[in-house]
Amino acid sequence: MGWLFFLHFFLLSLMARAPCTDAWGKEGHYMVCKIAEQYLTKRASNAVLDLLPPAAEGELASVCSWADQVRFRYRWASPLHYANTPGVCNFKYSRDCHNSRDELDMCVVGAINNYTTQLLNYKDSSNGYNLTESIMFLAHFMGDVHQPLHVAFEADEGGNTIDVRWYRRKSNLHHVWDVNMIETAMRDFYERDVNVMIESIEKNITDGWSDEVSQWKACNGDSVTCADKYASESIKLACDYAYKDVDEGSTLEDDYFFSRLPVVEKRIAQGGVRLAALLNRIFSKKVGGNLKFVE
Ligand SMILES: [Zn+2]
Repeated sequence: MGWLFFLHFFLLSLMARAPCTDAWGKEGHYMVCKIAEQYLTKRASNAVLDLLPPAAEGELASVCSWADQVRFRYRWASPLHYANTPGVCNFKYSRDCHNSRDELDMCVVGAINNYTTQLLNYKDSSNGYNLTESIMFLAHFMGDVHQPLHVAFEADEGGNTIDVRWYRRKSNLHHVWDVNMIETAMRDFYERDVNVMIESIEKNITDGWSDEVSQWKACNGDSVTCADKYASESIKLACDYAYKDVDEGSTLEDDYFFSRLPVVEKRIAQGGVRLAALLNRIFSKKVGGNLKFVE
């Protein structure tokens, strides 16, 4: 171990800080995880600290883009960042959660369920999983599932093939939602400082959205993670907001920005609150050997 071990995590940390262009951008994931950190129970927070790589220096948010940086090394994981529907505005697990080889569970919802199941073995030291990677994947995919265009139409690859202009710059619709809207919001409203944007979103969680937050966290019934629900919300938002009034070659500017930014901010808030709720459930005492949780 020793050197190689250290080198491994040093490289991970470099990758975690590199720019990213193909998911909620680095800022989006950072915000989701930074918000989540605020809502962790002591017990969950300790477990997260125990599992994080040393390079994270105790900060979950610092490794939340790691999964994007290993996309080429872990090719099998590439389809785990999203789910596609056949051009319809609803998500069905059995129809939509597969990779291009039709292997079931290989989508963002399946990945969230899978890494949750792995982390439920935290106390079993012979579990055989790399739970450091599991938690970094889980934190990332909980962000992705909340980006509306990560659960979107197969034909346009979640908006990736729809070329648009973001104000005067060339972009594509997917990139507008991953990066451009967040960048423009930070420049125009948040002093170019991600922490100012996080503070504003957190203020909305405790003020404007406070009535809704317990609903966001609610996860009952047979589902362990409720990731199906988050994916269903995303494709609905993709249809109602992301794709709406957009064609190939459209120029998107103030009208689009001002009407869609509230959706972006709310999804980041929901991603953070729900990531924390999920980690709190995972690391709480669970009932028997099944996957039902008690808070
Ligand atoms: Zn991703």
